[in-house]
Amino acid sequence: MRAAQRIPLTSSIGRAALARRWHSTSSPSDIKPLTSILIANRGEIALRVGRTASEYGIRTTTIYTNPDAHSQHALSSPFAVNLGAPSAYLDGDRIIDVARAQGCQGIHPGYGFLSENPGFARKCTEAGLTFIGPPWQAIETMGSKSRSKEIMTAAGVPCIPGYHGAEQAVDVLEKEAKKIGYPVLLKAVKGGGGKGMRIVTSPDEFRSQLESAKSEARNSFGDDVMLVEKYITTPRHIEVQVFADKYGNSVALGERDCSVQRRHQKILEESPAPNLDDAVRKDLWEKARQAALAVGYEGAGTVEFIFDNETGEFFFMEMNTRLQVEHPVTEMVTGEDLVRWQFIVAEGGRLPLNQEEVEQRIKERGHAVEARIYAEDPNMNFMPSTGVLQHLRTPEPTSTVRIDAGFVAGDEVSSHYDPMIAKLIVQGPTRTAALQKMRAALEQYEVAGPTTNIEFLKRVCVSPAFVAGEVETGYIQKYHDELFKHEEVPDEAWAQAAIGMLLEESSRQEATLLQPIGFGTSFQHRVFELAEIAPQGDEAPSIPVSVTQLGPDRFSATVGSTIYDSVTSTYDRTSSTLTTFFPHTRIATTLVRSSSPDNLTPILTLFQRGTSYKLRLAAPKWLEAALGKKDVANSVLAPMPCKVLRVEVKEGDEVIKDQPLVVVESMKMEMVVRSPGEGKVKRVVHGVGDICAMGTALVEFEDEGKSE
Ligand code: ADP
Ligand code: ADP
Ligand code: MG
Repeated sequence: MRAAQRIPLTSSIGRAALARRWHSTSSPSDIKPLTSILIANRGEIALRVGRTASEYGIRTTTIYTNPDAHSQHALSSPFAVNLGAPSAYLDGDRIIDVARAQGCQGIHPGYGFLSENPGFARKCTEAGLTFIGPPWQAIETMGSKSRSKEIMTAAGVPCIPGYHGAEQAVDVLEKEAKKIGYPVLLKAVKGGGGKGMRIVTSPDEFRSQLESAKSEARNSFGDDVMLVEKYITTPRHIEVQVFADKYGNSVALGERDCSVQRRHQKILEESPAPNLDDAVRKDLWEKARQAALAVGYEGAGTVEFIFDNETGEFFFMEMNTRLQVEHPVTEMVTGEDLVRWQFIVAEGGRLPLNQEEVEQRIKERGHAVEARIYAEDPNMNFMPSTGVLQHLRTPEPTSTVRIDAGFVAGDEVSSHYDPMIAKLIVQGPTRTAALQKMRAALEQYEVAGPTTNIEFLKRVCVSPAFVAGEVETGYIQKYHDELFKHEEVPDEAWAQAAIGMLLEESSRQEATLLQPIGFGTSFQHRVFELAEIAPQGDEAPSIPVSVTQLGPDRFSATVGSTIYDSVTSTYDRTSSTLTTFFPHTRIATTLVRSSSPDNLTPILTLFQRGTSYKLRLAAPKWLEAALGKKDVANSVLAPMPCKVLRVEVKEGDEVIKDQPLVVVESMKMEMVVRSPGEGKVKRVVHGVGDICAMGTALVEFEDEGKSE
């Protein structure tokens, strides 16, 4: 590889040597300005790249697919080309053709999709297009978790003890696991995004975990070569943002702690890493620059390390040869636009800052935190959630509060892609100040429609261990009880839900299916049966909330034993705000009414005093009967729109509770649908490859089958 030959890398390359190389020169004729690029991605990252491009006068072409036809990134550029099928973001040849037809000079791949595909990067280069990323050889080397570790070891960068060999027989892998010592971690060599990875705690589960890791890897990366490594039990994920140019200059733009994860995937990231010894920090930066130089790196990259909390050692984990989802954290603490840096390097320019200048910036600019806002249900093991964003209100962006989003209200989070709705990034002079700002910003973040992780993120931000900076990748499991604590719905929320319903229904002045007995269109008395949409999808018991309208804006409401005699309440439709003057306090609540997935019962989402509550108007008894609950109970239904990957049972099988029935994939995630109880399989309704709508029966049971 070019640069690797020019720069003989060994661990002996020190800061002085790196600083000296800084002074190498570039002639202006080496600079090839980009005037038009294609953004080969979707969602927030496509918009993010487009923002910087337009700021510098670079014309952008975006691509989209049928489900994304009306998405923000497709609408964001004057030149947008429909590639059709949902998977077309992976169609490198098509994308290159489009780029040439549109007269683009370069392609920005974003993250995910083709960003770390060396074949694509190579084809771009061969087609005369500038791939805005590192040389394809560097992607290829780093794309393999095994090959990259060999190179790092040779370059003097510490790696986790493990087996990275080509021999893949189960016996061999099992023997290696034994040699390493349990617990071990199985990882797909080509893996990414936390997929194709399984922890094995004891020898007896080795084979089943291996099979499941391989299957996930095949589905996600079309390759199931595995590596085995020591599983660090209390690790932190600390990564270093690096940048390198064509002239051998490289800088470390500080580190990010990304230890708060679910399913090996980050949800909160921050910089600098809390409670990290300064000598270790500097050592990490140095090792990261060495890692980049070892593969002739150019452009933006992230060197990920695993830090062992018990021993204080750190090990190279992998290098991501692209812009990271969490790059804004680094932008906040350095005050630099990393996409701009990518353009500069791709054009053949030199890095805008040297290491000392970067360090000075970091000293001055304090702390930044990013929270990933996902359409997912933390209470259902973070299962992705889909649907139309019926209401979306964000905190006001400022110079220290940034929102990178791919959606606006009315857009749909579809099951075809990653369920990340937005990233919220805040900056403060200290970690404490930044966290305080994050908490406040999350309280102003309102999303109705799909379930989100916002409430969960709020709880993390005030959790004492997190506030103290005691982070580790097992943080969510370790503090499970605290983070998943169920908050009671306050009486004021029940009362406002009922008042809101009454105001809404009387203003619409139309009889609906669910209209309870009323006395005309005003001055009515109603009893609403409301239930909380409870965690784990449990059927929470409904409670009656009665409301009487006493005047145009005056009501009395009864919630259990609490009676609000006379409260004034007004609803502002434009802002969806219900303002109620209770005897003790004034509460302004955002109240959004939507319909449930089965379209039968209204759902009310309330954003009250920084907390959101989701309530359901219970279906009338006659409707429940008409739905034929009993028939439904004898089938296991698709929990969400999904594709069947494997069927684990066949007709006539006797199954026990929790036995796997069908393995489905939804939103790029594999899920096992298990038996709710004992029973006998009557019929397997869907086979491998079938696409199922939410609520479709997957497996039917014999009538005598009991479900719990
Ligand atoms: P980061 O490393 O920046 O935290 P993730 O690892 O969470 O980012 O992945 C970034 C995005 O790219 C996610 O949307 C993830 O689903 C996707 N992704 C990561 N690796 C791959 C891959 N190999 N193939 C397809 N998508 C991937
Ligand atoms: P991906 O390509 O999916 O991002 P990584 O190799 O970066 O895969 O690992 C993802 C996450 O898995 C890390 O952030 C860390 O939480 C965890 N992890 C990886 N390797 C180990 C290990 N050896 N021991 C413990 N946890 C690990
Ligand atoms: Mg990783």
